[in-house]
Amino acid sequence: MYVSNGRKQIVILGGGSGGIVAATKLGRELGSKHDVTLVDRREDHIYMPAFLFLMVGQRKPGDITRKLKRLEKRNVKFIQADVLGIDPDRQEVTLSAGKSPMITSSCRSVCRPGRK
Ligand SMILES: Cc1cc2nc3c(=O)[nH]c(=O)nc-3n(C[C@H](O)[C@H](O)[C@H](O)COP(=O)(O)OP(=O)(O)OC[C@H]3O[C@@H](n4cnc5c(N)ncnc54)[C@H](O)[C@@H]3O)c2cc1C
Repeated sequence: MYVSNGRKQIVILGGGSGGIVAATKLGRELGSKHDVTLVDRREDHIYMPAFLFLMVGQRKPGDITRKLKRLEKRNVKFIQADVLGIDPDRQEVTLSAGKSPMITSSCRSVCRPGRK
């Protein structure tokens, strides 16, 4: 288990609908005592069910898009990176960070990378 300064590291992989719900709840309940981090390759969350309204001109792209960085107000750190690998035995996640991969250790991970 990875603990830094007594704070456990909780990493959420994927900032789609599932990841945001998990991040918001974990940030609210644990974010003051532990480090909650959300990772997504995208900078923004797009609310997909609203695509139908976009198609018929009832919404604009800005209406259905939110910066994932906004979660930082809710005790959730955001890292924009690709998840390259997960090693459950070592409790490590490898992320793209510039040209070289970055390894982050976590005591708990929540994986919500969608269907692809
Ligand atoms: C047009 C449309 C209408 C819909 N309407 C409804 C509805 O009415 N009701 C309903 O319940 N559902 C609806 N859905 C489905 C709903 O949007 C999805 O079920 C939901 O978004 C799935 O959430 P998720 O978090 O599992 O995945 P996603 O929302 O797909 O999120 C996955 C996230 O993981 C990130 N990711 C993936 N792989 C990596 C990686 N290797 N590294 C870094 N980041 C990564 C992606 O960038 C993405 O942000 C609709 C979908 C569409 C397209």
